Amino acid sequence: MREDNRFNCLNCGSRTLPELFLKECEDCYLRKPFKADYFRCRQCGLVQQSPVPEDVSGFYEAYPLHQDKSALYQWMRNLVMAPSYFDIRSLKTGDVLLDYGCGDGWFLRSYAQKRAFLLGFERSAAQADSLSKRLHLPVYSDPERLVSDFRGKVDVLTMHFVLEHLTDLTQAFLHVEELLKPGGIFFLTLPSLESWEAKLFGKKWHGLDPPRHISFPHKAVVEGLAGRHGLEVVEIRPVPFPNGFAGSIPAAVTGHFNFVLYLLALPLGIVLSRLSPAGFVAYLLKRTSADSSLDVTPHPLQSRSSTGAMNDPFLQIRSKTNFT
Ligand SMILES: [Zn+2]
Repeated sequence: MREDNRFNCLNCGSRTLPELFLKECEDCYLRKPFKADYFRCRQCGLVQQSPVPEDVSGFYEAYPLHQDKSALYQWMRNLVMAPSYFDIRSLKTGDVLLDYGCGDGWFLRSYAQKRAFLLGFERSAAQADSLSKRLHLPVYSDPERLVSDFRGKVDVLTMHFVLEHLTDLTQAFLHVEELLKPGGIFFLTLPSLESWEAKLFGKKWHGLDPPRHISFPHKAVVEGLAGRHGLEVVEIRPVPFPNGFAGSIPAAVTGHFNFVLYLLALPLGIVLSRLSPAGFVAYLLKRTSADSSLDVTPHPLQSRSSTGAMNDPFLQIRSKTNFT
């Protein structure tokens, strides 16, 4: 097999010349000039950008994370997002929940009144400080400090629409392994390239979100990462996430995101996602060894989930309209 000196699979480390998956994918959402090329690893099947961008900060510039949201905004966001987030009903008093990649803090804020101990992690120090002050919760930006303070103490670690943004999958799972207590739960949601939604919309699929989405771990990749980091799979299920459809319609029609078209498509997106969830998958993993402190019985689709800020059109919307 020929080697590609630029390719380095984020999952298996293969450098074998990969298969081109999608070329020159434009940023339909934030309209950054960078066009992403996606390749499929011939060893493990992971689809990822190659080369992996060294600095992704430019992909997120002008991202409106800091604005306060209106009640109507919050209501709509709950309607759209909540069913794909972690179901906090399984939390017990005193449990520690870490939302890793907490974005604008929507998920943490939604459950701040619960008896669990909540904390967040967000890579931008400025964003973490701002969130911490607003939510009155610890929000870390330094992974080493986070691990130092909470090693083996976390009952539930959530990554809602986060892993696909990261440039080091192994490092992310290592953090999870270090932070979770034995029996602790790792809940993550991911876009699925195997879905009809992804196949229908192709480069215009909202879940592709180039260039911010770096890789698309599929089931076998997640299972492999889990197995190498002391985690076992408890549940895998599709989650209803209407933005996958509703956010793709404007891009398919006009070439880029448009809030009015998104709103027009949203009711159908909600119905489709509830009737036949596709496009996004939730994984419930459990740290092996010792006793679990949680009841992790698989729950129905009406679970909670947070959205990664990056997939949330509302966040961009707010920067362009007075949607209040
Ligand atoms: Zn691979």
